[in-house]
Amino acid sequence: MTPIALVGLALLLFSAGFALTLWKSPSMPEPVDPGLSPVSWLSEDIWRSWNQYADPDGTAPIILPRVRTATEADRDQATVLEARVQTSAPSTMTANEATQALLQTPGVGFSYMQNWPMCCGHLGTMLSLTWAMQNAADVPFRFLEDEVREDWPLSSELSQSRAPGDAKEDLEAFFQCTSCGRLYVGSRKP
Ligand SMILES: [Zn+2]
Repeated sequence: MTPIALVGLALLLFSAGFALTLWKSPSMPEPVDPGLSPVSWLSEDIWRSWNQYADPDGTAPIILPRVRTATEADRDQATVLEARVQTSAPSTMTANEATQALLQTPGVGFSYMQNWPMCCGHLGTMLSLTWAMQNAADVPFRFLEDEVREDWPLSSELSQSRAPGDAKEDLEAFFQCTSCGRLYVGSRKP
């Protein structure tokens, strides 16, 4: 067989394989019941929305998280919301342990370079915008000092906050410390 014939055969086999793959994959994945959130840092709403379709190839939904520990000033100024998104078992993680925990989050989804607050020794629980709007649409959620100092070098304002009603949905996520009820917001990369 000549080299040209070999290349032709290879192309033919490749095309056939590709066509077979297309034929075998359904156009719309089937919705599945993902069960309850297995981790305290994803609310049930977030877990469900990220995992409502089966994706056996999906791994590592949280990429390059940036854990930010609440300072005393953050805790003093953060709003406390009595309504809790859920309760989580108390833990005392270090920031490094929290980062490792985020990186090992099961399931699928997408979170890239998310500033993730830590308060009371554990990770804040990420809220769905729906829950935040229903429970605290006009309530200020605090950006953590650590994020503002590092990521907003041109800003002199350290008391920034955001209400869910004014959310930049693709760029910010809202959190609650489920131990103390404090509310935080963190920016992320699109
Ligand atoms: Zn707390």
